[in-house]
Amino acid sequence: MPELPLEFVEQMKTSLGTDYPRFEAALNRPAPVSIRYNPSKLAVDFPPSGEKIPWTEYGYYLQERPKFTYDPLFHGGMYYVQEASSMLVEAAFRQTMPSADGIKVLDMCAAPGGKSTLLASLLGNGSLLVANEVIKSRYHILRENLSKWGWPNIVSTSSKPESLGGLEGLFDFVLVDAPCSGEGLFRKMPAACDHWSPENVALCANRQQSILEHATRCVKPGGILVFSTCTYNELENDGSANFIIERGNFGKVDIETTHFPGLTPTRLGYQCYPHKVEGEGFYMAVFRKENQSFPGKGKKKKKGGKSLKTFKKENIKNVLPFLQKQGAELTFFQGREDEIRAIPTNIFDGVPQLMNQLPFIEAGVSLGLLKNRKFIPSHELAISNLIANEFPCVQLSTPEAIKYLKRENIHNNEWPKGWTLVHHQHLNLGWIKPLGNRSNNYYPKEWRIRN
Ligand code: SAM
Repeated sequence: MPELPLEFVEQMKTSLGTDYPRFEAALNRPAPVSIRYNPSKLAVDFPPSGEKIPWTEYGYYLQERPKFTYDPLFHGGMYYVQEASSMLVEAAFRQTMPSADGIKVLDMCAAPGGKSTLLASLLGNGSLLVANEVIKSRYHILRENLSKWGWPNIVSTSSKPESLGGLEGLFDFVLVDAPCSGEGLFRKMPAACDHWSPENVALCANRQQSILEHATRCVKPGGILVFSTCTYNELENDGSANFIIERGNFGKVDIETTHFPGLTPTRLGYQCYPHKVEGEGFYMAVFRKENQSFPGKGKKKKKGGKSLKTFKKENIKNVLPFLQKQGAELTFFQGREDEIRAIPTNIFDGVPQLMNQLPFIEAGVSLGLLKNRKFIPSHELAISNLIANEFPCVQLSTPEAIKYLKRENIHNNEWPKGWTLVHHQHLNLGWIKPLGNRSNNYYPKEWRIRN
């Protein structure tokens, strides 16, 4: 049982009344374990046999917590370990977006990437996801998780909300999964109790409203803004959501929840409590921007600016065999120095605008380095959905795959020479390069299993 701050206990007793003992009892039970699988990476044994989470197509409860670190499928992006309540964002998306095709989605506070990977799984043809994490040290884990998820229609960035707000009226669906006091995580992360104080709650509410101010700008007229937190605190939840209403051009959207037993409606949103749903504390409110344009000042679109160097297919002939359909539906462009990247052609047009407005972006998938026409494929390509299915590969058992993921030496004299994909249960884990009597292990050093 986490040692709950006294003022928090008083606050919960006031808001829950006679339900408080059930809430406290739930905090004494272990938190449920849940995962959400990647619909683009169907290896074996998926979907799992556990109980399905009612508000999401791809989420399941597990009977017990396995050692995810020692599951190669986890490292290959076959699934994401995500707390069940937070998958409710899927219901907001499915119930408000008339089509998943040809839309632009922004996840404004994205690291470590739980909701970005969820949103990516919901997007259809010609749709773009921009995943942002302002804190640089947290951006890397976001990028790692997006790379493992493997979808090419994502642009990641580390930008301030002000810069994103400058993309006025661009997005059909904006999620602000805001930094908060984390009351809903006290059971899973008791250390969060130590950082809780009424002063910190007030600070969080102010920060949320400042983020929301910019988020409201970049929603398209008629588009959706979802605000969520992992707290129960009214000041941060309905309090900050009320700020959206006060902007004057957003209306509350009701979500159909009859199939989601236990969800508690609040004045402006929905609250998950651990004594009423199988999940942690989570709050979500959904708003639609009215159709007339926003009266605020906003930044003007930057004109001109940086441009992207693109590659013609005839100049990258040695890259194409690595790609599904020889990269037929992709546009190729330069990333850093010798880096070559690819993004679906039907969303490429949106990239220069993002590049000019935001200080830093990584668009699509890094394919590798092209130096003097010699191509060195990237790890991101190996685990992406762009990689050619028929590329040479070696199948590894679980113990062999763990050795590979620890970046240890593995070799078999019968393996084909040259760039070879490492497979575990038909899921790509990365590259290996057998040279005859030994093999080079190309698993990224910074991602390796360390113990
Ligand atoms: N959406 C993420 C997921 O599902 O994995 C979790 C996001 S977490 C609740 C909130 C994020 O907001 C953190 O990654 C934090 O670094 C970021 N953040 C902190 N201060 C911020 C600010 N002033 N503006 C925008 N984001 C901020």
